[in-house]
Amino acid sequence: MAVVIDGAEIARRVKERVASGVAELEKEKGVKACLSVILVGDDPASISYVTGKEKALAEAGMADRSVRLPADVSQEELLALIAELNEDDSVHGILVQLPLPGHIDSRKVIMAIKPEKDVDGFHPVNLGNMVIGSRSFLPCTPHGVIKLLREMEIPTDGADVVIVGRSNIVGKPLSILLSRRDYNSTVTLCHTGTRNLADITRRADILIAAVGRPGFITADMVKPGAVIIDVGTTRVPSTATKSGWKLKGDVDFDNVAPKCSYITPVPGGVGPMTICSLMRNTLLAAKRAIYTL
Ligand code: NAP
Repeated sequence: MAVVIDGAEIARRVKERVASGVAELEKEKGVKACLSVILVGDDPASISYVTGKEKALAEAGMADRSVRLPADVSQEELLALIAELNEDDSVHGILVQLPLPGHIDSRKVIMAIKPEKDVDGFHPVNLGNMVIGSRSFLPCTPHGVIKLLREMEIPTDGADVVIVGRSNIVGKPLSILLSRRDYNSTVTLCHTGTRNLADITRRADILIAAVGRPGFITADMVKPGAVIIDVGTTRVPSTATKSGWKLKGDVDFDNVAPKCSYITPVPGGVGPMTICSLMRNTLLAAKRAIYTL
C-alpha cells in the first residue's frame, strides 16, 4: 500500500513558515503583506476557493483587501479596479479568481495586473521568466506540486515524469518547471491528442493527473511503485455530505493506491499546497516591493 501524502499537514508547516516571515517583515519594516483577491459573480466553486484563500490570509497574519463584484460588472470597471490596486503601495499581490463571466476577456484581465503583483504567476512576463529560469512568481498549483515532492523527499532528478493535462495554469507550466535543470526530470506532457495514453503513463516514475475527469487514471495505467500526484478536483453529487457534493480526484484512488509508492488524496493533497504557494508568493511580493530585492 502506498504512502498517502498528507498535503494538509505539509501545507500547515509551510504556512507556519510563511506566517513567521509575515510577522518578521511587519516587525522590521512595519509593513503587513497584503493580498487582494477579486471575485466576480457567485459561482459556488469560486466562492469556496476564495473563502479558503481568505481564511489562509488571516492565518498567515496578512492583510486582506479582497473585493467581490457582481457577475454583471463591466470589463472596464474590473480593469479600473486592477489599475487602482496596481498603484496602491499597500497592496502587494492581486489575484483575480478564474473563470470570469463570458463577457470579460480573462487574458486582458491577467495582462492588466502588474507582473510584480501577479502572485498567481499567470502574467506572460512571469511565465516567460519561469521558462528561462529568471526571477518570477511561480504559478501556485505547479509550485505546490513541486513543494510536495520536495517535502516528501521524492527525487525528481532523472525521473520519467508524465503529466496528463496541458492547461496554462497546471500541466504546461509544471512540465516546464520539472524539466528545468533544478528539477531535472524527463517530462512527457499528454492531452486529448495523445495516442496510446496508457502505454505512456505506465512508463512514469511520477504520474501527475490534471485532467478534471474523476477516476480517469485507473490501476492499469500505473507502473508498480510509481508516485501519483492527483491535481484533479471535480465536484460530484453526494448524499453523504451536507452540501450535496464532494470532491473527486482524477485518480481511481482505491485501486491505484495498492499499486504505487506514494499517492496524494483528494481532498487534502495538492489543493492545500496551492493556497500555500499563494501565501508564499504574496510574502515574496511584499519583500520585493520593500527591499527591492
Ligand atoms: P483544464 O483546463 O480543464 O484542461 C484539462 C486538460 O486535460 C486538457 O489539457 C485536456 O486536453 C486534458 N484532457 C481531458 N480529457 C483528456 C483525455 N481523455 N485524455 C487526455 N487528456 C485529456 O485543466 P486544469 O484547469 O488544469 O484543471 C484540471 C483539473 O485540476 C480540474 O479538476 C481542476 O479543478 C483541477 N485543479 C485543481 C487545482 C488544485 O489546487 N488542486 C488547481 C487547478 C486545477 P486538451 O488540451 O487536448 O483539451
